[in-house]
Amino acid sequence: MASFSSITRCSGCKRKALLAMHFRKFKRPTEPLQFGKAYHKAMEEGISSGIDDLKEYGMEDKKELLIDMYARIQKFMLDNEIKILEHEVEFDIEFDEFKEHFVGFIDAVVEWKGEIWLAEFKTARSISVEHVPIDSQITSYLWACDYTGEYKPKGVLYMVNKKSRTKDPIILKSGYLSVSKTQGCSYERYKYEAERMYGPIINMSEKTFESIKKYAHLNEEDEVYFISYPDTDDITHDENFKKFDSEKVVDAYIKRIVKVKAFIEWLKENESPQFVCVATFRTREELNSFETMLFQNIAKQESLTDKYNKDGIVKALQTTTCFPHKMCFDTCDYKEECLYLMQHKDVEDEDLDESFYDRGGDESID
Ligand code: SF4
Repeated sequence: MASFSSITRCSGCKRKALLAMHFRKFKRPTEPLQFGKAYHKAMEEGISSGIDDLKEYGMEDKKELLIDMYARIQKFMLDNEIKILEHEVEFDIEFDEFKEHFVGFIDAVVEWKGEIWLAEFKTARSISVEHVPIDSQITSYLWACDYTGEYKPKGVLYMVNKKSRTKDPIILKSGYLSVSKTQGCSYERYKYEAERMYGPIINMSEKTFESIKKYAHLNEEDEVYFISYPDTDDITHDENFKKFDSEKVVDAYIKRIVKVKAFIEWLKENESPQFVCVATFRTREELNSFETMLFQNIAKQESLTDKYNKDGIVKALQTTTCFPHKMCFDTCDYKEECLYLMQHKDVEDEDLDESFYDRGGDESID
């Protein structure tokens, strides 16, 4: 069975591909992987199923984070009229020339602007989408649909949701909204709160805003100042006015509104996005060159699998000529096993079980 990850490994270090073939089954899922699974479960079956998954993994402390991220993507899809047609679509492609199948999962098939798209739901500590136009995993999904003739998608909607909570704006003891740049509140959330607290004044144009004082009126009898909102001049009951007991307080209030308004603009320009969706396509040439690469690597995987099944892991590794070096050590998940097996020629296949893998860390390197 060839997956996107396994064929990618076959295009790199063969020793790593063999080590992955043997040790992959012992790998325990990491916390980010489990959180990702819970997020996908929530997308497929609803938020309560995602929360159940978190409980199962002992990650209940991530519940609020999951709820926030789920709400964010649902809002995005609703606002943009993206409709999910099918979740977790599996492809399993057989070839005449290979024993291996090519298998994979697409997160969803969706409809957007009257066309069919594939969707990828990603979670990330920080959002980066520069790689999306050349991401081969995305190409593999579009190639699979093209090869089988299924869905005929226009492209892939790659949606990245930042692993961060949407914080509420800070309200100061004075009752005003804070304009601290470090409060971690989103533009939308802050703007909503500013409108709720200050009313339509917050959305007035620069020009109107400069002359805001003209909306402050002194009620001579009560010596109470009012700021009336021009949009609601025809409505006269109290809740449409802000009352102040002195001109000084009106000044302070207006200064605060000016700051809040400037902060809203700053947030709009500077907030790092919590959610990004990229629509990406592949040309016929890109699909063809993916197919060439796929077929070459499936052939390589078949030959490695044959060697592994026939000779066992130790012998297969001994006949795979590559040497660990600093560059591959920076990124290889199997560097410790690789080095250990190079240094210990007397190790038998039977020794390379779960307990060997579990020793982990520096212990495995003499
Ligand atoms: S450490 Fe380097 S040589 Fe060894 S398996 Fe990993 S990539 Fe290959």
